[in-house]
Amino acid sequence: MRYRRFGKTEMLLSVFSLGAMRYNASAENAHRTIDHALEVGINHIETAQGYGKSEEFIGKAMRNGLAKQRDRFYLTTKISPTKDADSMRRQIEQSLKRMNVSYLDNFDIHGINLKEHLDLVTNPKGCMKAVQEAIDQKMIGHVGFSTHAPLNIILDTLNTDLFESINLHYYFFNQRNAPAVQLAHEKDMGVFIISPSDKGGMLYTPPEELDGVSYPFSPLYLGDRFLLSDPRVHTLSLGAANPEEIDSHQDAWDHDEPLSELELAVFDCINRRYTLLEGDRCSQCYECLPCPESINIPEVLRLRNLAVAFDMVEFGKYRYKMFENAGHWFPGRKAIHCTDCGDCLPRCPENLDIPKLLRNTHDRLHSGEGRRLWE
Ligand code: SF4
Ligand code: SF4
Repeated sequence: MRYRRFGKTEMLLSVFSLGAMRYNASAENAHRTIDHALEVGINHIETAQGYGKSEEFIGKAMRNGLAKQRDRFYLTTKISPTKDADSMRRQIEQSLKRMNVSYLDNFDIHGINLKEHLDLVTNPKGCMKAVQEAIDQKMIGHVGFSTHAPLNIILDTLNTDLFESINLHYYFFNQRNAPAVQLAHEKDMGVFIISPSDKGGMLYTPPEELDGVSYPFSPLYLGDRFLLSDPRVHTLSLGAANPEEIDSHQDAWDHDEPLSELELAVFDCINRRYTLLEGDRCSQCYECLPCPESINIPEVLRLRNLAVAFDMVEFGKYRYKMFENAGHWFPGRKAIHCTDCGDCLPRCPENLDIPKLLRNTHDRLHSGEGRRLWE
C-alpha cells in the first residue's frame, strides 16, 4: 500500500480509503471489512451520518475490539450543512457517540451541492461556527467538504479557504472537475476521489468492448492508475461491501508512479474509440447550458458518448435513471423533456443536433427510476 500526504492536513493517508457506505449487510460484516482494510494497509475509514447504519456499525466494531487499534487509522465522517450552529453541534456529538470515539481525525461538510449550501457554510453564525468550536475542543482534527456541485460552485467553495480537503468526482471517463483538482492542489488541499470504480464507470463489471480495449490491463486497474499516477490526487474511495471486494484493487495500490509507456499507449487506444461517435461526440464543454427544461445536456450526452464508444450501456442506465430521482445529488431532468426550443443549438461549438441526440440517449438508456445508494 502506498501512502500520500493529504495536503495541508499533514495526515499520511493510504492511497485507498475504506468508503464505509456499502458494508451495511450486518455489523459483523462491517467489522470484518474494516479489519481486512486495516490488514492490507488502508489507514482511513470514511463514512457519513447519512450512510444508513454505517456509523452505528463502526461504534459496534469499536466496542468489539477496534478501539484497541484506534491509532492505526484516521476516521472521517460527513454531516450535511445545517442552518444553525446548534444543530451542527448536536449532530457532531451524535456522530462521536454513535461511533464510540472521542475525536474525529477529519470531518467533512457533506454535499455542498448548491449555492444555498455554500451560503450556509459562509454564514459566520452558521454551522461552521460549531465545526470551529469542535476543532478548538479537539473533537475534530481537520475539516473538508464533499461535493456533487456544478464546477463553478466547487471552485467558489474552494475559494472560501474554509476547508483543508475536498471529496469530489473526477475520473478518466469524467474529467469535468479537473480545474477543481488543480485549484485544490494549488491550495495544498487534500484530494479524495468519490467512488472511482462505481460512479467512475461501473468498472467492476465492464462490458466486453471496454475490457478488450484495456488489454493487457483491466478497466478497474486503469481507472485506479489514471488517478494514482496524478500526484494532485491523494486517496480513492474503495466502497467495499465485504472484505473480498477490497482485494480487487491490490494490483493498483502499490503503483502510484507516473504512467508507463504501455499504460499511456492503452489510454491512447481507449481515447481513439471515441471516433466511433463520428460527428456526434459531445466534447463536454458545457456551453449549451442552461436549458429551460433543466436537462443536464452535457451529462446526458456524456452517458451517450460512453454507451456508443465503449458499450457502457449498463453504466449509462444506472446513471440515467437517477435524473429526477436524486435531487441536488444528481440534478437535471430526463432527456425526454426536450421541447425542441432550439436555445442550446447556437451555443454548441460542435454543431450537434442536441434534441435528436437527447432522444436517442433516452431510447438507449431509459430503464426506470433510481435512487442513491443509501436511500
Ligand atoms: S432544444 Fe431541448 S435541450 Fe436544447 S435548450 Fe431547448 S429544451 Fe433544452
Ligand atoms: S455545447 Fe455541445 S459539445 Fe458542448 S457540452 Fe453542450 S452538447 Fe456537448
